[in-house]
Amino acid sequence: MMTKNKNEETKHSSLIVRWVSIVALTITVSFVIFSVVVYQIVSQQSLDQQQETSRNVVTTLDRTLSSIPDELQISNVIPSLSPATRRILKGGPVISDKNTTNNAFSDNLIASISNPDINAAVYNKHGEIVFTNGNVTPKFKPFKEVEKNEIIKRNGHQILLTYQKVYSSVNNKLTGYIVVSNNMTYYNSLMKNLLRSMVVISIIAIVVFVMTSYILVFNVVKPIKRMSKVAQEVNADPNSGARIKELNRDDELEDLATSINQMLDRMQSYIEQQKQFVGDVSHELRTPVAVIEGHLNMLERWGKDDPQILDESIKASLQEADRMKHLIQEMLDLTRAEQIDVQYPHEVTNVYDTVKRVVADLAMVHPDFEIRLDEDDLPQGTEIQIYHGHLEQLLVILIDNAIKYSTDLKQINVSAGLTKKEVNIIVQDFGEGISKEDQKKIFNRFYRVDKARTREKGGNGLGLSIAHKLVDSYHGEISVESVEGQGSQFKLTFPLLSKKKAAKLKKLNENSELPKSNLE
Ligand code: ADP
Repeated sequence: MMTKNKNEETKHSSLIVRWVSIVALTITVSFVIFSVVVYQIVSQQSLDQQQETSRNVVTTLDRTLSSIPDELQISNVIPSLSPATRRILKGGPVISDKNTTNNAFSDNLIASISNPDINAAVYNKHGEIVFTNGNVTPKFKPFKEVEKNEIIKRNGHQILLTYQKVYSSVNNKLTGYIVVSNNMTYYNSLMKNLLRSMVVISIIAIVVFVMTSYILVFNVVKPIKRMSKVAQEVNADPNSGARIKELNRDDELEDLATSINQMLDRMQSYIEQQKQFVGDVSHELRTPVAVIEGHLNMLERWGKDDPQILDESIKASLQEADRMKHLIQEMLDLTRAEQIDVQYPHEVTNVYDTVKRVVADLAMVHPDFEIRLDEDDLPQGTEIQIYHGHLEQLLVILIDNAIKYSTDLKQINVSAGLTKKEVNIIVQDFGEGISKEDQKKIFNRFYRVDKARTREKGGNGLGLSIAHKLVDSYHGEISVESVEGQGSQFKLTFPLLSKKKAAKLKKLNENSELPKSNLE
């Protein structure tokens, strides 16, 4: 049992793990994709800018160098690039080492595009250096194209190399090469910072999202776990009083918990009723079965030889069997009385006609009784929402009881009347009456005030509980007023049906083709 619980616990926790992992994975993948895209865009744009800077330097140099008709060499390159050098060559004053003007960038033209990141170098046709503006002289590597760009990595930094062949504008001959190397310090630090920020932001985002989703999921899973625990307890013991405790949250889970609690209450009350019913039924059937068994035993011992015993026992057994049949029919009626909503939803019955017919029928069966009918207060067209068979059954139960429990005065009064909202039917007798204590119990299943006497009269204690269930199903009421030794009065009350609603129900009833024959 312990292992099972442990397994279930793990299974439930795995919901949190699964959920949180999915969130973490989704966020990570989204962030990685987003970061890669942003990194690429920024990188491409900055690189374009760097290439343009390099190309500007190359173009400026090329423009100057292409005016030289011969092969490039120190003697023709330096003077053409730097007016200061030209001056020295012509015998001007020497310029100190510290003076940075002794390179190509002292020229106004080139100085305007000068950049500490840029190393420009000029080579002759044979790849020998003839001019450089920086300390680092890129080693010449032959190249085929007229111009080309190349990115190399040095000490973890990206360096952009731009190559260009120089052709003389005078004779179109190849005179040398220009190679510009761009350290791209700004680009390298920008990309490094961007990468670092992205990693940090991604980690923070993943941690925050995972924590938030864990809290959210935990909040949802916790009540589910509680519900499942209660379900397991009830599963193990259907009578368990375990219920889901108040969740204190105004959402679907709270609704679900309330519904589950209500469902459990209802289910357990049904189980209880069912148990009680089975107990009651077996108890009620025991007596007739015992009586039949007794008679059969008697028949076996003496009945074969004694025609009188034979006759008596057979008659008594038949009577008992008949009573059993009656009891079974009543139990069936009781069960069916609980399902009326489903079976007869749109039935409408004329009260005046039905009461009149039942009273007349019963008066014929019991000629020794005077059954008076007072329908003065009931308009002839009065209708209520009930299946006519059920209204008849109700009247038969009440009038039958009135007859059964009458004493000397064999008179029954039946009256029907109308108030603003209700239809009342009253059955009154002048018989033995019912004590206040018993009046509370007579509607219970199998309850009889005097078991032995009632049995003599053929009662099973089911009539009034059938009546109660029927009236309940039609949203009516049944009540009793009685004085012991003087008589009783049972009153049925039904909601009055407006003409409009009656017409609507009749129409619905015509349309629905429920096969009622098999329900009766
Ligand atoms: P039964 O089939 O035994 O009559 P009911 O459920 O109809 O069962 O009635 C339950 C009990 O209530 C009866 O056994 C009887 O003791 C009492 N009772 C019912 N109707 C009357 C009445 N009109 N006068 C006196 N007692 C009654």
